Amino acid sequence: MVGDWRQSKRRIGFVPTMGALHEGHLALVRASLEECNRTVVSIFVNPLQFDRATDLETYPREEEKDRALLADAGVQVLFMPRAEDFYPPGFATRVSQPELSRHLCGATRPGHFDGVLTVVLKLFNAVLPDRAYFGQKDYQQVTLIERMVRDLGLPVEIRRQPTVREPDGLAMSSRNKLLRPEDRVEAPRIHAALQDAEAAFRAGNREGLPGRVESALKSIPGARIDYVELASGDVLSPREGPARAGDVLAVALFLGPVRLIDNLVLGDA
Ligand code: AMP
Repeated sequence: MVGDWRQSKRRIGFVPTMGALHEGHLALVRASLEECNRTVVSIFVNPLQFDRATDLETYPREEEKDRALLADAGVQVLFMPRAEDFYPPGFATRVSQPELSRHLCGATRPGHFDGVLTVVLKLFNAVLPDRAYFGQKDYQQVTLIERMVRDLGLPVEIRRQPTVREPDGLAMSSRNKLLRPEDRVEAPRIHAALQDAEAAFRAGNREGLPGRVESALKSIPGARIDYVELASGDVLSPREGPARAGDVLAVALFLGPVRLIDNLVLGDA
């Protein structure tokens, strides 16, 4: 079918997801529907990118609800590969980008981004989209994917979309559904801490921003910080010295068993 659309010169948009869809996903879907003639959404909980077995087991799965949401949105194709078809016995290839995955989530989730890049390349080859939509919420992920596309000359245009938040500021995530009520109450403090650092940056305080975020996060009951880092927005290497506009301030932290991430690009607002 996609082959026919290609022949009739229709622009194909693609939104890869792991399901348990929320407004963040639907914003990507709407962007694709607006910019493209046909939109393909994939739902695939990719075992290759999980570094903790319990995370894979407990990852929320809501197939029926997702199907209805996508049908209502007007998506033409839902692609749901099965793990055993996507990774048959003997599957041995990995795409990796050691440089950009050295820091941030790559440092604490070994193999995660190899799994992401491998599945995204495989999905691109299956769908053959003209444009693919990714969220800025997963800043390192979209940066790696843009680099893969550039380095390998893939014929797809990556469209980054802004992070969609709950009214209280918490970045939407499928994992938010797993938060215990008491942790859900505290979770908006992640974004608040990043905003506070952004305000300090705007007021001319360009030193010590990660430390400032870290102290705010440490006061969240039950939180365990995975990392707080200031990195250059393009190559994701840790920023030494004063922060600059365009740097990304990125956070990962555990609230109970749930790992949440968020980020803010300084001087972006
Ligand atoms: P996931 O299903 O979590 O793998 O996410 C699928 C896509 O949706 C990725 O490109 C994510 O970056 C994007 N995404 C997830 N949450 C949000 C959000 N709150 N705002 C914008 N994009 C998001």
